[in-house]
Amino acid sequence: MEKIKMKTPLVEMDGDEMTRVLWKWIKEILIEPFVELKTEYYDLGLPYRDQTDDKVTVLSAEATKKYGVAVKCATITPNAQRVTEYNLKKMYKSPNGTIRAALDGTVFRAPILLDGITPYIPTWTKPIVIARHAYGDIYKAVDGKAGKGKAELVFTNEKGEKEVKTIHEFGDNGVVMAMHNTDKSIASFARACFNYALDMRLPLWFSTKDTISKVYDGNFKEIFSTIYENEYKEKFEKAGIEYMYTLIDDVVARIVRSEGGIVWACKNYDGDVMSDMVATAYGSLAMMTSVLVSPDGVYEYEAAHGTVTRHYYKYVKGEETSTNPVATIFAWTGALKKRGELDELPELTAFGEKLEKATIETIESGYMTGDLVGLFKKDGVTPVKLNSRDFLTKIAERI
Ligand code: NAP
Ligand code: MG
Repeated sequence: MEKIKMKTPLVEMDGDEMTRVLWKWIKEILIEPFVELKTEYYDLGLPYRDQTDDKVTVLSAEATKKYGVAVKCATITPNAQRVTEYNLKKMYKSPNGTIRAALDGTVFRAPILLDGITPYIPTWTKPIVIARHAYGDIYKAVDGKAGKGKAELVFTNEKGEKEVKTIHEFGDNGVVMAMHNTDKSIASFARACFNYALDMRLPLWFSTKDTISKVYDGNFKEIFSTIYENEYKEKFEKAGIEYMYTLIDDVVARIVRSEGGIVWACKNYDGDVMSDMVATAYGSLAMMTSVLVSPDGVYEYEAAHGTVTRHYYKYVKGEETSTNPVATIFAWTGALKKRGELDELPELTAFGEKLEKATIETIESGYMTGDLVGLFKKDGVTPVKLNSRDFLTKIAERI
């Protein structure tokens, strides 16, 4: 069989620990035998980030802007313990945070569904995609303790004029917080959500709490509505999908009763919380994909989970591990399919689809990694636990 040729390189961001091991195996066993892989390689593994004072992360984000599609392996976000473990020069920022900031993107998380793994909410037969705004609100808030006295919110305009609002007159100890967002970031978030929903042909629901937060959340609601009316309404109607704005409490109630098949756009904190709930309800974090989409149509694909440290320490000791590579495989297929679409290479897109199908069918036929064995229930199929490499080989047999 002749290998599929690529036109534009993918930006390849390598990572850390167990996922770095899986990364190499996925390429070796599932991709390189079939595709003449063209990538521009950036090593975001912690040792090389340290060696380059984290410049490699910035370079990889710039390359992503240039080429349009990246695939990223999970990476360590260093904490104090990692600084000691890797003897780091400093405690670097999260690579995902750096890349998100550079691309001004929105993160979409979608579960991989298959026959044999039933979500904890059994009516969820289609994926629920959470779109999380990745800028501002409590993640960029200023907070502090208060004692007896008055807390005020002060806005000083360009001319130096002040607008002062009383937050609370404290009679005793308490806490205060101030947070912000920008119209520009909210508009980017809105466009990323509308584009993604059109791409996937899924309805888009957006929720806030604007009945309580009339100005702050009201601003989100209004920006979404204006952009929808002016830029997307016709396209949505043509695609036969709807945009709906409603209160977050209402969406929670509707989501639980739904069959899925929805993109749910969430403010930053809501998305943080709801994405973990949705991921858990679908069964396993190892079956959750994630894509960062920028407002100008740049895509970065990854798995939603981390570097699976506990498994890596076992691997280093020479023990066999049964770490689930599915979300990382889907990061690769997502990127290859998008590259195929942009470069008009239908055979590359078809390969991505074929690899996804082979992965799902391998599990549905009973071969899987340890994390799925306890979740899998299908008449006439007894689940068999394979180590990561054997699982990848089993998938390759189906391509
Ligand atoms: P994690 O790597 O996602 O793993 C947490 C636990 O979830 C694992 O110990 C394992 O449970 C299970 N798990 C996750 N992915 C799995 C897979 N593919 N196959 C089988 N089991 C899987 O999260 P963490 O331990 O909190 O973080 C480890 C490192 O990853 C940290 O340094 C963190 O900074 C980094 N991280 C990176 C990203 C990213 O790059 N996007 C995201 C999150 C975390 P059992 O141990 O019970 O088997
Ligand atoms: Mg969270």
